[in-house]
Amino acid sequence: MDLETKAYLLSVGSVRHGQHLSGERSTAGPGAGGHSIFFRSGNRLVRLAEDPTSPLLLERLEGEAILSCEGREVARGTLVEPLCHCPDQAYITVCERCIYNCKFCAVPILCGAVKSFASIEEMITRAAATGRLKAISLTSGVEVSPEGEVDRVVQLVERLGCFRVPIGVSVCPTKRSNQLLKAAGACEVKYNLETVDRDLFPRVCPGLSFEEIMEALCEAVPIFGRGHVFSNVIVGLGESDRTLMEGIDELAEAGILPTLRPVYPHPLRRGELDMVRPGPERLLRLARYAKRALDRSGLRGDSALTMCYRCTGCDLVPGRDL
Ligand code: SF4
Repeated sequence: MDLETKAYLLSVGSVRHGQHLSGERSTAGPGAGGHSIFFRSGNRLVRLAEDPTSPLLLERLEGEAILSCEGREVARGTLVEPLCHCPDQAYITVCERCIYNCKFCAVPILCGAVKSFASIEEMITRAAATGRLKAISLTSGVEVSPEGEVDRVVQLVERLGCFRVPIGVSVCPTKRSNQLLKAAGACEVKYNLETVDRDLFPRVCPGLSFEEIMEALCEAVPIFGRGHVFSNVIVGLGESDRTLMEGIDELAEAGILPTLRPVYPHPLRRGELDMVRPGPERLLRLARYAKRALDRSGLRGDSALTMCYRCTGCDLVPGRDL
C-alpha cells in the first residue's frame, strides 16, 4: 500500500464486509462504541471502522485481505488481530466516561464503564502472554475531576511497571500531571488540543482551556524529552489549512508531535458541529507539511515508543508512513 492509497483509505475511514470478523470495539474518543479492523499492507497499517454502508468492500481470499471499491481493487494485504485496541500495544481506556462535552466525542454520551485495576492488569497479562506486547498506552475520560483522573492513572502506571514495556499516557492535563506521571514511570504523554484553531476551540471543547493544555504540553517537553510529547489535532472541524499549518509549526517548534487525525463524525454527535472528513489530497498535504515541520525541529516520528505514533493505524504518521 503506497502513501496515496493509505490517504484514500483514511479519507473513507470505513469498510463493509460479508463475513463475521472479530473486529475490536473502540471504547475511546470520537469513534467510541464502534467496531473496527486493522489492515496491513507492506509496512503500512490502517484502521477502518466497520460500516455496512461503506463504499469500501473487504473480502478474504486464501489468507489475504482485499479492499475494493465499485469492483476495483484498491489494496491487498492481511488483517491484523489487535492485542487490546491496537496491534502490539495494550491501549486501554481506563474511564469510559467524561464530565466534559467535546462536540465530536461520543464518550460523554455513551457513559461507559470505569475499569478496575485488577481487570486492567488481567487484560495486560493476557496481551503479554502472546509475546507481542511492545507498549502499554493508557487513556481516560474524566469521571469526577482531571486531578482525580490523573491520580488514578498515576497509581495504575506504578502498578504496571512490572510488565517492563514503555508506558504512555493520554489524559486531561493538570498542574502536576507531568511531574506525577514521570515519577510514576510513564515515558510519554499526550494531551489533546483537538483543534489548533483558538477561535473554534471553545465551541469544540467547552469548559476546557486551550492555553492550559498548551502550557502542560510545553512543560512536558523537558520532562519527557523532545519527540515524546504528543497532541491530537483533529482535521475537519471547520478549521482552515492555514490555521492548521500555523498550529503544526507552533507545536513542532516547541518539541511536540501533532497527531493529525481525520474527524470521525459520530452518529451520536450528528448536527452538533459541522464535521467534514478530509479527502486524501488534504490529508497528504497536511502530512507532508507536518513532516517538513518536524524535520526542521529535529523531531522524529519513528522514535515514539507508545500510543498513535507507534501504532499508525488512524493517521499518516511522519517518520513512519512518510
Ligand atoms: S492510531 Fe491511535 S487511536 Fe488509532 S488504532 Fe492506533 S492507537 Fe488507536
